[in-house]
Amino acid sequence: MEEMLSNIEKCDPKKSRKRKSDTTKWKRKAVQIKRYKSKGLPIFPRCGHDKKAFKCDKLTAQDIRRFHENFYKCKTKISQDNFILKYCTVNKAKKQMSF
Ligand SMILES: [Zn+2]
Repeated sequence: MEEMLSNIEKCDPKKSRKRKSDTTKWKRKAVQIKRYKSKGLPIFPRCGHDKKAFKCDKLTAQDIRRFHENFYKCKTKISQDNFILKYCTVNKAKKQMSF
């Protein structure tokens, strides 16, 4: 009996009779994939910031293109959020805002 069990191997999924669901073809999944896909070429900032906190003006076309490309390698919202967080630093506010 043990000998027989050791010979059992997983067969090629294409030959398998049990169908594995291909989630990429699901309508809901397709909508989700589309939502987090790039909507086109990167848009360059035109604010012209060149201050301590924002240096938008110093970004090169290559910086923007590369960031755009890498960002959209992330296919889900979670991975995109994590990607952005990698490039963020958090500074404590000097003055507490009062509302
Ligand atoms: Zn700016």
